Amino acid sequence: MILVNFGVFERVIFGWDGKHAYLGAAKRKKSINTPNFMSELKIIAVIGSGTMGNGISHVFAQYGFEVHMMDINQAALDRAMVTIGKNMDRLVAKATLTPEEKVASLGRITTFTSLAGAVKNADLVVEAASEDIDLKLNIFRQLDEHCPEGCILATNTSSISLTRIGSVTKRPGKVIGMHFMNPVPVMKLVEIINGYATEAEVTQTIYNVTEKLGKVPCVVNDYPGFISNRILMPLINEAVLALQEGVAGVEEIDTIMKLGMAHPMGPLQLADFIGLDTCYSIMHVLHMGFGAQKYAPATLLANMVQAGFYGVKSGEGFYKHTPGSKELVVSARFASRVWKQ
Ligand code: NAD
Repeated sequence: MILVNFGVFERVIFGWDGKHAYLGAAKRKKSINTPNFMSELKIIAVIGSGTMGNGISHVFAQYGFEVHMMDINQAALDRAMVTIGKNMDRLVAKATLTPEEKVASLGRITTFTSLAGAVKNADLVVEAASEDIDLKLNIFRQLDEHCPEGCILATNTSSISLTRIGSVTKRPGKVIGMHFMNPVPVMKLVEIINGYATEAEVTQTIYNVTEKLGKVPCVVNDYPGFISNRILMPLINEAVLALQEGVAGVEEIDTIMKLGMAHPMGPLQLADFIGLDTCYSIMHVLHMGFGAQKYAPATLLANMVQAGFYGVKSGEGFYKHTPGSKELVVSARFASRVWKQ
């Protein structure tokens, strides 16, 4: 019997039952026991310590892994350690973590400003630097040079082709997408993305480690935006277009989606939370990847990004964000109920 892997779960089977050749499809078991295969992931290097990098470092450390958190910016590393400490305090307050486990978890994180130093003993790297293709390709060339031979190179990219990223390394079979959701300590899903060359065993290892983090893995193939952002980003972009055209104001658009569609957050609030720069980059990838006008980023989104209005991380986007405050305040720029350009 020959199994041909079409993605991780669906397999086409060509076989011979003694009389007939047959062709069928089978689902791979939810979790295959591959004894000892790459099961000993101990040191996890996380590249980038921003919104996602600090959350990814947090969960790996909380679940007992040794974490090497690396950023080119020392101030970002310092902020990340403060954020991780505060997020763990919340878990202690909810009795999800004991104070001792918090101290032990923080003790498992070491910070680095040198990529070579952070990855030299790593079993797995999760890259979570800014969503910029040239930056990521450059990081992966360096990772390939400095990581041990068997090390798996994962990226948290929201949209950039895994196959493209893998192609700049000498180990494309070991390059995979590990797409955590924001905020990482809270969100259950990890979208795992197979590049064209990703080895099935690598997918299985990432699947297993995702479960060890208490999260739910979903495996998809490498197409622009994968599944999550192929569906989410056009929704956000459409909300921005509706705002741009003056169909409704920020509050109305978000309220309609929250109360009418039972979304926990409106699309404009979510865009602020993700980062408008990240949303813009993803729309650009969808636009270029599919070559279809329906994915063109809204002009208002492009303008806001060019002007540095990134949402939560810059203090203002569609809403005004004051550190420590959870109040939802629409930016003065969009204050009139039906805002016009
Ligand atoms: P961010 O802007 O908050 O953080 C990026 C960090 O990368 C910064 O601290 C920056 O100093 C660092 N960095 C830049 N160049 C670097 C380099 N060469 N080496 C090491 N560090 C470097 O961005 P983010 O929101 O955390 O996004 C990171 C990745 O995660 C992106 O690929 C993004 O698409 C993806 N992602 C983001 C979200 C989200 O909601 N923000 C969700 C899922 C995935």
